[in-house]
Amino acid sequence: MIVLKFGGTSVQNAERMDEVLTITEYQIDRAPVLVSSAMSKITDSLLLLSQKAKSGEEKEALQLFEDIRNRHLSTAEAFLKGDNLSKAAEHLESYFTELHSLTRGLLLLKECTPRSLDAIASFGELMSTTLLYYRALTRGIQAEFADARDMVLTDDNFTSALPLVEETNKRIGEALRPEPGKIIITQGFIARTKAGATSTLGRGGSDYSATIFGAALNAEEVQIWTDVDGIMTTDPRIVPEAKTIAKISYEEAAELAYFGAKVVHPSTIQPAVEKNIPVLVKNTMNPQGKYTSIEVYSNKPGIRAIASKKDITLININSTRMLNAYGFLNRIFAIFDKYKTPVDLIATSEVSVSMTIDNLTYIEDIVKEAEKIGYVNVEQGKSIICLVGQNFWQDSAFVERVFKSLHGIKVRMISLGSSDINLSIVIPGASLQEAVQKLHREFFS
Ligand code: ADP
Ligand code: ASP
Ligand code: MG
Repeated sequence: MIVLKFGGTSVQNAERMDEVLTITEYQIDRAPVLVSSAMSKITDSLLLLSQKAKSGEEKEALQLFEDIRNRHLSTAEAFLKGDNLSKAAEHLESYFTELHSLTRGLLLLKECTPRSLDAIASFGELMSTTLLYYRALTRGIQAEFADARDMVLTDDNFTSALPLVEETNKRIGEALRPEPGKIIITQGFIARTKAGATSTLGRGGSDYSATIFGAALNAEEVQIWTDVDGIMTTDPRIVPEAKTIAKISYEEAAELAYFGAKVVHPSTIQPAVEKNIPVLVKNTMNPQGKYTSIEVYSNKPGIRAIASKKDITLININSTRMLNAYGFLNRIFAIFDKYKTPVDLIATSEVSVSMTIDNLTYIEDIVKEAEKIGYVNVEQGKSIICLVGQNFWQDSAFVERVFKSLHGIKVRMISLGSSDINLSIVIPGASLQEAVQKLHREFFS
C-alpha cells in the first residue's frame, strides 16, 4: 500500500481537488490511503476566528465563520451533483453547526484554551476530506471516508500533541483495510486524546500524520504532494533559482525540516526511518516534474541545502561565577526544562552561554529565573541560517567560503554541530534574505 499526503494549496479549490483525485486514482492499484490537509488558509482562518471570539469581537468572528462555510459550500456546488451534493452538504452542515456552537461558547466565555483551539482547528481537515470523498464518489471512484481521530491517539498536549505510537498503530491497523481499486480518504493533523478530546499534531502536522499512517500500515512508500518540485537547495521563495535535490538521507531531511525548511514537518521523518519507508516529495502543480526521494542514502561530502528560520530569540547569560564552576549548564537547562522550551542552538565561553529559542510562551519566567544565575540579555528578531550536508570538514575551504560570502552581515553566533551535518549561523532578522541568497550563490550556482 502507499500513502499520499496533499497540502493546503493542493486542495485549495474544486479544480485542485480534482487533480488530487486524479493523481491518486492513477495509483489506485497500489492500495492508496489519501491524507489531506485543510484547504489553503482555512486553518489560519479558524485560528483567527477563535482569537476574535475570545476577545469578544462577535461580528468579525461570525464573518469568518460565514466565509469558511461559504468557501466549502461553493466548492461542493462547483463539482458535486444530485445525491452526492445533498449528502455532502448535510455532512458539512453538521460540522458548521458544531463550529458555530463552539464559536458561541468562546464568545460567551471570552476564553480560548489550547483544547478549544484544537477542536476548532480540526474542522479544516474534516471539511476538506468530506469534499474529496463525495467528489471521488461523483467520479465513480471507489472510496472510503475515515475519521483520523478514531485512529491517531495522542497525549493531551493540545496544539502540538504527541502520538501514542503503539495504540495508534493498533487502531490504524484495525480500522483501515487498504486494497487495490479503492481510495481511503482521511485527515492529516487531527487526532484524539485518550479521554476522547480532539487534539492536533501542531501546525504543518499533516506530513507527520502521513508517515504515522505509512508506518502503521507498512507502506511501501509515502508521497508528500506539495506546491514545489520536492526539497530544494533552499526555499524557492527566497531564491527562485533553487534546484531540486533528487536524493537526500533521512538525517539530512530531518535537520533541514527542523531548521525551517517548511516543505516537510520536522517530525515526519521519524516514523519513516523506523520502518525504512522512502518518502517522496512531489509537486501537485507539476506531477511529472522533478521530485525528492528521502531514503537511506549516503551522499557525497559537502553541502546539500540551506534552511532558515525567522523570529528567533537569542538569550545570553553572563556570569563570572561560571568560571571553573561545574553544574552551571545544568542549572540553565533545568530552567528550559521546567518551562518546556526547546533550545535550538547553544554556544558557550568561559563566562557566558548563548542560546536560541523560537517559542516565547514562557520567556518572562525563563529570564526571571536565569537572572538568579547571571546577567541576562535577550535579543529578539534574529534569524538562523542552517547549512545542511555531510562531512563539511573534509573541505578545508568550507568555513572560509561561508564567511567570505557573508561579508557585510553581522554574524551573532555560530554553531558547527558535532554530528557534522549542520553549520548554523545566527544573524539579524533583516539580513536573512540577503544572507541566504549570498550563500546559495556561493555553493549552488
Ligand atoms: P503544504 O501546504 O503542501 O504542506 P507548505 O507550505 O507547508 O506546503 O510547504 C511548502 C513550502 O515550503 C514551499 O512553498 C516553499 O516555499 C517552502 N520551503 C521552504 N524551504 C524549502 C526547501 N528547501 N525546498 C522546498 N520548499 C521549501
Ligand atoms: N492544516 C494544518 C495547518 O495549516 C496542517 C497542515 O496543513 O499540515 O497547519
Ligand atoms: Mg506543510
